[in-house]
Formats: sequence, C-alpha cells, structure tokens
Amino acid sequence: MYFKECANLAERHPGLASVIQQVDAQFQEMETDGVMRVGDFADILRADRNQVASVFELLAESGLLLAEEMVECPHCTTPVLRSDYQAVLDEDGEYFCTDCQRRLRLVPGVLITTYRRGEIWKETPRSKEISRIPGMSETRPEQSGPRPPLPPRKRALRATAIDLLTRELKSHIRSAKDHAFECQKRTGTPELLPRPKRKDLARRCKLSETRVSNAFRDKAAAMLNILWDVAGDLDKTMKFKG
Ligand SMILES: [Zn+2]
Repeated sequence: MYFKECANLAERHPGLASVIQQVDAQFQEMETDGVMRVGDFADILRADRNQVASVFELLAESGLLLAEEMVECPHCTTPVLRSDYQAVLDEDGEYFCTDCQRRLRLVPGVLITTYRRGEIWKETPRSKEISRIPGMSETRPEQSGPRPPLPPRKRALRATAIDLLTRELKSHIRSAKDHAFECQKRTGTPELLPRPKRKDLARRCKLSETRVSNAFRDKAAAMLNILWDVAGDLDKTMKFKG
C-alpha cells in the first residue's frame, strides 16, 4: 500500500482490506486537493458504496482525509459547505444554488459528507515521486511548495466549472454505456459513442474553452480526468457504474 494509514487500517479491518487497497491505489494516482465523494469513488472502483463510505470515515479518523459537511442541491447536485450555506442563510434569510439558482432548503437528504486530503496527507504522492528521481535536487524552489492558490472567488468559479464538466461527462458515459450494450444486442459488437471534444463540453456547459482547459488542468480535477479516460475507452465505459 502507498499510505501507511491505509495499511494499518487494512490490518485492523481485514473485511475491508480489498476496498482499502483499491482506494489507496486510487489516492496514489491522484493529484488533488478537491472534493472527493464516496459515490464517485464507488462508481470508479466498482466497489460497494457502504464499504467505501466506511473506509473514508475511518481514514478521516486517522487524519489522512478531512471530512466536510456539505449541503448538496437536490436539483443539480452542486455542493456548498454547510458553514457557507449557513452564513448566507443567516445574512439573507435564504440561499439560492450558485448553479441552477433554485432555492436550497435544508430538507432530508441534502446533507452529505465529502472528503478532502487531511492533515497527514501533506504532499501529493506524485510530487514525492518527482523528488525521488535520482539526480534531481529535493529542494528545487519550484518543487518546495504548492502553487499559489487562486483567490477565493476564482477558486469557487473553477470548482463550479469542474463540477459542471464532471456531471456532463458522467451523463455522456451513461448514454455511451447504453449505446454500447444496444449495439452489442443488435449487431453482436459493442460500439463506443465518440467522446465529446473539449469544445463540445464547453458548449454544453456554457463555459469558455479556456475555462474548460483550465478546469482539466486543475489539481482538483482528478475525478474529471479519470472520467475523461473512461469516456475514451469502450471497456471502461461498459463497466462504468454510476
Ligand atoms: Zn442547484
């Protein structure tokens, strides 16, 4: 396993060991400081949602992950931190979804827990790997710290773009999966529905092409990039659960 917290956890919970191993391998590939949803992980890993939820909860207890309480819009699934939601509610008396503009109420089912990298997941595995390459100084200034963060408003816009693109790609993959199985039934051979080009995604999500390419390059877009790979692969598309 890559993270010793994952190895420790697998030792204590042998029944969850295989899911822990899958999650650990996924973390190792990810370079993200973005929001991680249990459901997304379960879909990508084709693992049991309850098991993934338990693993995330336990890893949050160990400090590898940080759990956050979010309010998720029931119409478009855009999440907002519960504390931010509450702050706007206290000030304005109502909160409107930043994406679909509908009023967001605290009704059963809208509260979800999402995860981020926790305190002890300090650097991304990939940056560690880079510093281990022989002959490469470990203290190169451009490697020593994270890139300067975007200002909060830009960060929020970026997060919204990533979220919109993620949902658009998921919806494409679901259609592509149906299409593949339909073709298989009709002709005996499954066919991959062409993956939309980035500029098509931009049009569908009403984003500029620049915002789309910046979103794909963002550190928080690990899941988006995984979905991009899935959409370009017939086998992965047919196995997609979500
Ligand atoms: Zn909404």
